[in-house]
Amino acid sequence: MKARPTITSIELVQFEHELKDMGREPTIGIPIYEPGSNLKTLVHAIRIHTDAGLTGDYVGGPAPEYAGVATFASSLIGRNALHREEMYNDIKQASRQQARMGLGVVDMALWDIAGKFHEAPVYELLGGSPRKLPCYASTYIGDHDPGGLSSPEAYADFAEECLEMGYPAFKIHGWQDAPISRQIEVVHAVGKRVGGKMDLMLDPFCAIRTFGEALKLGWACDEQKFFWYEDPYKDGGVSAHAHRKLRQLIKTPLLQLEHVRGLEAHVDFIEAEATDFVRGDPIYDGGITGIMKIAHAAEGFGLDIELHVAGPAQRHLMASMRNTNYYEMGLLHPKAGPFSPPIYKDGYRDAIDAIDENGCVDVPEGLGLGAEIDWDFIYGKRVSGTEIK
Ligand SMILES: [Mg+2]
Repeated sequence: MKARPTITSIELVQFEHELKDMGREPTIGIPIYEPGSNLKTLVHAIRIHTDAGLTGDYVGGPAPEYAGVATFASSLIGRNALHREEMYNDIKQASRQQARMGLGVVDMALWDIAGKFHEAPVYELLGGSPRKLPCYASTYIGDHDPGGLSSPEAYADFAEECLEMGYPAFKIHGWQDAPISRQIEVVHAVGKRVGGKMDLMLDPFCAIRTFGEALKLGWACDEQKFFWYEDPYKDGGVSAHAHRKLRQLIKTPLLQLEHVRGLEAHVDFIEAEATDFVRGDPIYDGGITGIMKIAHAAEGFGLDIELHVAGPAQRHLMASMRNTNYYEMGLLHPKAGPFSPPIYKDGYRDAIDAIDENGCVDVPEGLGLGAEIDWDFIYGKRVSGTEIK
């Protein structure tokens, strides 16, 4: 048996990335189309170094996750990098008062090491097969530029454009600040234009003020036979009671759990009959280890898990589970460029035109997470970082 890799240090890197023609939505600060402005963002990355010369790499996820890593990283030094289940449980306990921040990115970097060590892509270690993954076009939030997503017709035009490109499904992120009547108009405009030709989803990202307005918007989704309705209103997507009530009053399937972290809380929410589809995000839900636990729990309830946002880890995960439908290609916009920085040197991309003619993407075939990261590019734009030994 060859020597197992021992963790020698954990490196955290922050680098700058500019989103062209983007600004910040003034009330909640998320990116919004703003032609002429450039939005400077900080992208975070982790590298777990081992004595075997193998490094586990993961890029992406919000700053608090990386702040979380710094709180427990020293307890991982000297451990066998392949003992993921043990570390998952220890980190989960260590970070229990910080919402288990950091567990997901560490776990994904450990799976990258495992793949490189066993000389296999992650999906193969999970028993998956390299199937085609159907995508939905997931929009940026609505904006106010005449050339952007500023009207119900603009959303319908963009949905039609995505349909023509091959996308089998389209998800609307509406406006942060529009009256409910306007949000309802978008559902009808898109439904009338492309309904029946592609699956449609609506994600108001918790922007709707009241339960009552969320209900009215849900009735519009019912009329247009939407495939799912996600995180409608300002409870933040976390009230099991409210979403069970909403399910009783509308027909459209709900997709909840993007904002409820981890296996046990997911199962409690499912058991409360508060969602139809189960959301999972490898960053928020404990990495690849955490997501496979949730996928299998959902399978046991007879439900599907739908993974949040795009990335190599999501592709490996989708290829390794039966009960899932779509890959979230986003965020997309008729005018704005790709959301993700160009950090891969082997052609791996998540962008509006990264799909094939059937609207699908492939699973990376390289070792570990499989997409080859361009560290020269990242270190060239590095603004800060730390190494825990
Ligand atoms: Mg969402």
